[in-house]
Amino acid sequence: MKNTKGRFLPVGIRASIGVLAAGLCCVLSSWLFISCVESSEHPGDAGIAISFDDHFLDEWYALRPLFKKYNARVTFFITCKDTLTAGEIAMLRAFQNDGHEIGFHGTVHAKSTELIQAGGPAGYAETELFPGLKNMSLAGFHPTSYAHPGGNHNDQVDSVLFANGFRILRDVAASRRSLRGIPIYTMAPRIMNWIYYKFDKKRSVDALVIDSDSGLTEDEIKDAIQKAKSTGTALMLFGHEPLYAPPVNGEYGFDVTFLEVILKEANRQNLRFYQMSELVSL
Ligand SMILES: [Zn+2]
Repeated sequence: MKNTKGRFLPVGIRASIGVLAAGLCCVLSSWLFISCVESSEHPGDAGIAISFDDHFLDEWYALRPLFKKYNARVTFFITCKDTLTAGEIAMLRAFQNDGHEIGFHGTVHAKSTELIQAGGPAGYAETELFPGLKNMSLAGFHPTSYAHPGGNHNDQVDSVLFANGFRILRDVAASRRSLRGIPIYTMAPRIMNWIYYKFDKKRSVDALVIDSDSGLTEDEIKDAIQKAKSTGTALMLFGHEPLYAPPVNGEYGFDVTFLEVILKEANRQNLRFYQMSELVSL
């Protein structure tokens, strides 16, 4: 979220959950769930918008058969520090040809609130936006969606991004959070209303992280997919590096078998797969 501390929850809920014991949290969760069972305004639009952050191009490229198996279309948010190599450009073009979107995730992947505080809007744009966008433009890519590096931003940062042509900005949300190994909160994704796009033209959105350390379970994600189906919304998810074993040595990413659970269930429920920029187009 916009705040750099505890950025994964909206401020009001963060303040509440921080002081609640796990049992009380369950009561709150139940109440929220009851209150958010809503009728669908867009029953035929129910879908899922999955995105991937950073620069794991080779690793994502290896997932192409999996995406094709489930007719999945996703968004890759690329950090672009250096000029793209011919091989990278070829992979990005292949992604586009498969129906995926190429979004942008910054040049230096820094804390935007600090960059803009130090250098103002112009300094922020010249450091984080323009070099990478130029590299991408030279390679033929013109991103219209942006994922905030580290989920760090504020209204001023957002206004610079919108002024530079981005149509949708994606932040991060987590269903579990701990500090030095101590759980701070756990929340069922089905009650996290802010990770479901309601096709209300909202241009600043939150996606739930699916990386292994998120602790998400198959039941939780299936419940979330069911909620998107029943409410005619689009569930927004994101991850980093595809992993084939538990993360080691600082790896951060999602289990590929878990991704397949998501794709399979979304397919079974006939959810539409959305690129991030498509969400604001409907
Ligand atoms: Zn990132």
